[in-house]
Amino acid sequence: MPLTPPPFTADDHRARMDRATRAAADAGFAGVLVAPGPDLVHLTGYRLPADTERLTLLVLAPDRDPVLVVPALEAGDAAHAPGAAALTLRDWTDGRHDPYAVTAPLLDPKGRYAVSDNTWALHLLGLGAALPGLSFAALTSALPMLRAVKDARELELLSAAGAAADAAYEQVLTLRFAGRREREVADDLADLLRRFGHERVDFTIVGSGPNGADPHHEAGERVIAEGDMVVMDFGGLKDGYGSDTTRTVHVGEATAAERHVHEVVREAQQAGVDAVRPGVTCEDVDRAARAIIESAGYGDLFVHRTGHGIGVTTHEPPYIVEGEKQPLVEGMCFSVEPGIYLPGRFGVRIEDIVTVTADGARRLNTTDRGMALVE
Ligand code: ZN
Ligand code: ZN
Ligand code: ZN
Repeated sequence: MPLTPPPFTADDHRARMDRATRAAADAGFAGVLVAPGPDLVHLTGYRLPADTERLTLLVLAPDRDPVLVVPALEAGDAAHAPGAAALTLRDWTDGRHDPYAVTAPLLDPKGRYAVSDNTWALHLLGLGAALPGLSFAALTSALPMLRAVKDARELELLSAAGAAADAAYEQVLTLRFAGRREREVADDLADLLRRFGHERVDFTIVGSGPNGADPHHEAGERVIAEGDMVVMDFGGLKDGYGSDTTRTVHVGEATAAERHVHEVVREAQQAGVDAVRPGVTCEDVDRAARAIIESAGYGDLFVHRTGHGIGVTTHEPPYIVEGEKQPLVEGMCFSVEPGIYLPGRFGVRIEDIVTVTADGARRLNTTDRGMALVE
């Protein structure tokens, strides 16, 4: 399915590229090198139809206009990217040009470059062979704020994606769970996400009963039964921006023990959200959520970080994890998603996307976080 490009203009992309170039220079880099992937989408709007081994590389440097090195046979697609008017295309042809020799004159031969995390090693090795004095640093560690802080239009798009995921959840609650396979409920969730405007579904996790205790479980052939706890974690892209939310429901009446575990997770999620404000670090948010689960005696059963950023992808920096000292900044968007996983029994996770505002967090997911009882 073709992806709708985010509605940003060449001027928006020019501003983003200028900001990235300045930030790189301020951090002592000669420039920024960006391969196909989320950073290229964010900076230029250019979303390649498929992963490709041919070199496509955006070169940002303070002393020149942005240049996108592209294979000649893809130059037409690149010329139609939303940000194309803000950059110069430099194409190369199979068998006629060495793409690294085409790129080398755009670079400072002794420069240190911030490179998008997903750039192929093949290409860095090729550039290093052409210019042995080059050195590289990963973009997310070099410039962690590049995509982390969202502008007003991005916040609107993320809010709309969150609202669409919420609408899908409200609908799935009306469907039958008992007697159906996890896979069937997952397919219903995917259909609902598309019906509410997602052009891409990234995941529809349905973990029933003991499967819910495995945070990596996706959805399988297990038939959901009366008495099961069911973790549902789903998201994708709507108009180029991500959704990701989790609710844990129960089929029929729940036991006191199930209600207790669900309530601990709900309180932990609330504590994480309550900790959010500008200047607080990512790890502080993780600690706030984790403290609730630890004090209830389930600390060893909360086996993952509390959250992750979201934007043109459904998982990206900043990571809400112990050791991440990055302070929160107004406009950042990330998940708060603590969980408790009781091996062989059930799991509970509750996840909302939040954005950092001047006085705290605003949730982009607003469905009831209480334990819904389904049929
Ligand atoms: Zn039960
Ligand atoms: Zn999720
Ligand atoms: Zn998530």
